[in-house]
Amino acid sequence: MSERQRKRDKDAGIVTCDACPVLCRIREGRAGACDRYANRDGRLMRVDPVVIVQSRAESEGRLTPFLSSADEWDGDIMPRDTTLTGIGAGTTYPDYKPAPFIVSSVHDGVDMVTVVTEGIFSYCGVKVKIDTDRFIGPEQATVRCEGEPVGHVTTAEYGSQMLALGGVRHFTGGSKAEGAATCRMMLSLCNKQVVELAVDGGAALVLQADRPPVVNGSREERMRVGCGSATIGMFARQWHGHVDEVIVVDDHITGVLSEHQAGRFLGMPPTGIRVRGRRSTPGRYFQVAEPGTGWGGTDVTDPLTIIEAIDPAVARPGLRLLMVSTTGQDAGYYLLDEALRPTPAEMPEAVARVVERIGENCEPALTSVLFMAGAGGSLRAGVTENPVGLTRSVKDALTRVTCGGVPVYVWPGGGITVMVDVARMPDNAFGSVPTPALVGPIEFTMRREDYRALGGHMDSIRDIDDALRSAQTRLAPPRGGG
Ligand code: SF4
Repeated sequence: MSERQRKRDKDAGIVTCDACPVLCRIREGRAGACDRYANRDGRLMRVDPVVIVQSRAESEGRLTPFLSSADEWDGDIMPRDTTLTGIGAGTTYPDYKPAPFIVSSVHDGVDMVTVVTEGIFSYCGVKVKIDTDRFIGPEQATVRCEGEPVGHVTTAEYGSQMLALGGVRHFTGGSKAEGAATCRMMLSLCNKQVVELAVDGGAALVLQADRPPVVNGSREERMRVGCGSATIGMFARQWHGHVDEVIVVDDHITGVLSEHQAGRFLGMPPTGIRVRGRRSTPGRYFQVAEPGTGWGGTDVTDPLTIIEAIDPAVARPGLRLLMVSTTGQDAGYYLLDEALRPTPAEMPEAVARVVERIGENCEPALTSVLFMAGAGGSLRAGVTENPVGLTRSVKDALTRVTCGGVPVYVWPGGGITVMVDVARMPDNAFGSVPTPALVGPIEFTMRREDYRALGGHMDSIRDIDDALRSAQTRLAPPRGGG
C-alpha cells in the first residue's frame, strides 16, 4: 500500500488487518471479510473472546468451557487446571512477529510456557469416519457439497465407511467456487454443524460430528458387531443346538457356521447349503452380492438370493437355517421343506435371543470428524526464531501440542502434522478466511528451559493472568459485516 493511501485510510479511520493475506481494509464499526477482526475506535480487534478451558476429572478428562466470554472473568488468579486456548487468540500471520499469547505458568513446581495462536491452515483436511455397513459409494468416488467436489471416498475401515474431505488441492487446484464450498463444508463439519454431501454414484449423506450419520434419508443406529465371519465366531456357541446353519450376510466377509472353524470346533455337521461368491477360507465368502444399502452392506433385500445351491446328498428336510445381518437388524429363520427349499418359519425364542444379542453388542453408529493439518513454516516462526527447533522439540516429546486444549495425534515423519477429534473441542473453535483457508486454534506447551533451548521468543513471555487481563480489555462482541 502506498504512503498516500495509508494516510487517506488513517484520515478516514480505516484500519488494515494483516492477520491473513486478504489484508482487509476495515472501516470504523465494521468487521473484516472473515468476521473475526473488526475496527473498534480505530483499533483492530479480534471480536471473539479468548476461550479458556478447564479439565475436570469428573468429566473423564473432557474439556469444558471455563468462560463463554472473557468479559465474564473477574480478573482473579486463574483456577488450577485452566488452559488458555488458541480460540479467539488471533493470528500473527505471516508470523514475522511472535504468537499472540506466549504465557508462563507453573505446574507442579515446573515453569512452563504455552504458545497460543490461531493457525491459518491452507494445508488441512478432515477425515470422516461413518459408522455404517451401507454402501456410500465406490472408493475414490468424488464427494460433493453444494455441487462442488470437496473430497472423495477412501478405504473403508472395520464397520465404518471413510471420507477424505478438504485439502489444499480442493482449496487451490480447482475453481473459486470449489475452494469456497470446500472451506464452508470444512468449517461447518469442524464446528460440529450439519453438512449435506452427495457421493458420485453413491449415497446422499447428512453428517454431523458425534451424531448418527444419515445415509439416503435413513438414520443409522447400529455399528455392526463385526464382519460376518467374526459374528459367527462370537455367537457360534450360543446358536449351537438351536439351529443347524447360520449365514451372516456381509458385503465383505459372509460367514457360514457349519463350514466355519467355529462350527467345526463345535462338531457341527455340513448342511449342504452353499452360498454365492468367492470362498476365501472355510466358512468365509467374499462378494456374495453387490454392495448396497440392504443386508450387511450388500444390495440384498431377500437373503435367500445369496444361496447358490443346496446339495440333496447332504441337506435334509426340516433343517433349521438362520440368516442374519452383521447388526442383527435383518434376520430370517427358515426350515427346509420336503423339496429342500428354505421356507420361512417362526423364529424360536432361543435363536431370537442370540439375534437380539448381536444388536445389543453393536455400538451406536456415529460420525467422527478428525481435523488434520500441518503446522507449517510461518506458524512455527510465531513460536521460535528457529522453526525447525519446534519440530524437533515436538518429535522429542518435549513440546505438547493441543488444539483448543485437546491433545492431538502428531504424525510420524517430517513436519508437525496433527490430527484432532473436533467433537472434543469447544464449540465453534474454527473460523475461516476467504483465501480460502481454515483457521484453527493450536497451542504448544513446554518447559521454560526447553522453550529457551528451541529459540523461543523469551521476551514475549507474559504471566497467564496478565495475558488474560489484556485479552479481556481488547475483546468486544461481534459487530456487523464489513
Ligand atoms: S479476512 Fe479476516 S483475518 Fe484476513 S485480513 Fe480480513 S479481517 Fe483480517
